[in-house]
Amino acid sequence: MASHRLRPCVGRLFGMGPELGSGRRAYSAFQAFTEVLRLPSKQLTKLVFPLQELHGHFVPGSRPDLHLNIFHPSLEDIARAESFFTASARNRIEYLSSAVRLDHAPDLRRPEVCFIGRSNVGKSSLIKALFSLAPEVEVRVSKKPGHTKKINFYKVGKYFTLVDMPGYGYRAPEDFVDMVETYLKERKNLMRTFLLVDSVVGIQKADNIAIEMCEEFALPYVMVLTKIDKSSKGHLLKQVLQIQKFVDTKTQGCFPQLFPVSAMTCSGIHLLRCFIADITGNLKTTGFQFS
Ligand code: GDP
Repeated sequence: MASHRLRPCVGRLFGMGPELGSGRRAYSAFQAFTEVLRLPSKQLTKLVFPLQELHGHFVPGSRPDLHLNIFHPSLEDIARAESFFTASARNRIEYLSSAVRLDHAPDLRRPEVCFIGRSNVGKSSLIKALFSLAPEVEVRVSKKPGHTKKINFYKVGKYFTLVDMPGYGYRAPEDFVDMVETYLKERKNLMRTFLLVDSVVGIQKADNIAIEMCEEFALPYVMVLTKIDKSSKGHLLKQVLQIQKFVDTKTQGCFPQLFPVSAMTCSGIHLLRCFIADITGNLKTTGFQFS
């Protein structure tokens, strides 16, 4: 198992070279978000509310059925959420342990959120981006064929545990089913499952393994669309609409609003942090609208 240092995406965001971005050791959440707040409003929307920005590209009057405002926190709430993800002496954010079986998993005191997705969907990159305010965290990556894949646990202060599930796909269905099924079915403190879908290719056959599990176990889950910087706007719009239609018509437990993200540009990362802080019961935002 190899560990990779984080590469905060703030550097890219503000037009610095990647060297400058990765060379900085610590970002104060406040500094990071105050920089974001200084962006012109169009850029700010693109970065913080990418779905909203995308919606603006539809032909006026075409009324695409995207759910934009079910979770729409204020910028203040988003700024507050950053503090949960900012490492300090009083808020330790760290890798806890790995497990191949549920009885090896750490205790149940904190609420948990887990991330699942096909191999290569961008899961490690997303977790690194979420932890970019805690540059000392080592996000563990195990990709060598034949190596046992593990469930990795990260402690986020006293607030919650973030769980990185083994990637699934054509070559690893057994790993996924054996290990992950038990976890999803039995983990009592699991508050939300984040199911990653590659926005470039949309929902693939292998993604259905995870979708069906979440549905079967009646888990509350959220679809996160990765790598949104990779496609043209037109292609991305098409994929997002298809996935939204799937969520609306074929799922019961999936949160109706999609979360598009890019680990490269940091787009959607602030909103996702805020959502996690909220649903783990740590930040009461005014962001949830029930319509
Ligand atoms: P994992 O197997 O799901 O953990 O996927 P990784 O995080 O290792 O990403 C797989 C590949 O996709 C790597 O080459 C990443 O650099 C690339 N990647 C991940 N996220 C993004 C993203 O948001 N944008 C772009 N352009 N590439 C990404």
